[in-house]
Amino acid sequence: MVKSVTVRAPCSTANLGPGFDVFGMALDALYDNVVLTKKGKGIVIVSSDNIPLNPSKNTAGLVASAMKKKFKIKDGIEIKIKKNIPAGYGMGSSAASAAACAVGINKLYNLKLTDEELVGFAGIGEKASAGIIHYDNVAASALGGFVIVKTTPLKVVKIQPPNDLVLCVAVPELMVPEKKTKVSRGVIPKKVSLSDMIKNISNASGIVAGFSERNSELIGRSVQDVIVEPARKHMIPGFDKVKKNALTAGAYGVTISGAGPSVIAFTDKKHDSKKISNAMKRGFKDAKKESNVFVCKPSKGPIIKKGK
Ligand code: ADP
Repeated sequence: MVKSVTVRAPCSTANLGPGFDVFGMALDALYDNVVLTKKGKGIVIVSSDNIPLNPSKNTAGLVASAMKKKFKIKDGIEIKIKKNIPAGYGMGSSAASAAACAVGINKLYNLKLTDEELVGFAGIGEKASAGIIHYDNVAASALGGFVIVKTTPLKVVKIQPPNDLVLCVAVPELMVPEKKTKVSRGVIPKKVSLSDMIKNISNASGIVAGFSERNSELIGRSVQDVIVEPARKHMIPGFDKVKKNALTAGAYGVTISGAGPSVIAFTDKKHDSKKISNAMKRGFKDAKKESNVFVCKPSKGPIIKKGK
């Protein structure tokens, strides 16, 4: 009988501009490492990283509680979390732990869950970070690639990204508020004009078509959002300059990664990604902010290892 599993779940970017709460993509850059072990009673979180250890406040803990209840799991579960994805920077850190936990418990108890069931459980974890359940980051982290999340009923469509798609990410060194996602959801307009809605739908459609046709340029040029980005960008010092610099250096499109403050640029192998990421770094520097930049490709999803 398997007693423990280890899951490495990737970071992710949500929204991709116009796909607010709907689009997500797993990134082959940073991974959370989560070891789930049948042990003792109840749920115990073990981590030396700066995250809540109370299971009801930890994204992985919430997922484990929900799955334990649903599948009447009697064992205690120890969840050992090694964070590599910085929490609160729009890189899907809270989601990666939640996704790893759902994927791990599915394996540990041989539950044979569908993609939707897995994502449904992982999404419950986001209540601990964003205040509400949302599925874009967890779907990307749990399934890999580019994902489209349709809700009520939950349906997840996964598309394998084109091989030449390249992402440049700049993570600024800012103090982020606790529950930043909850805070940055509060600034989004409650009503939008019909013309803005049309622009965003047309760009979102361009993104889906770009992934379906494996056309990185179409994806990147469609990463344009006239609704959420303008409402949130004031929370990111230097955003306009970072974006302009990346576009001038050859990026097809640039937007806020998830709820920010990380900024993501879309390009392909024909362009100099190093030049783009350095241009983004300079943009933040002009706003007197240091940033960590990296270049990556989409991730194929979590890596699962069975223990004993
Ligand atoms: P991110 O985009 O990095 O997920 P959020 O602001 O949405 O950023 O989530 C970070 C918040 O979630 C922090 O307040 C953090 O304490 C909380 N949190 C709870 N559990 C975890 C976890 N397992 N990993 C990361 N953050 C967690």
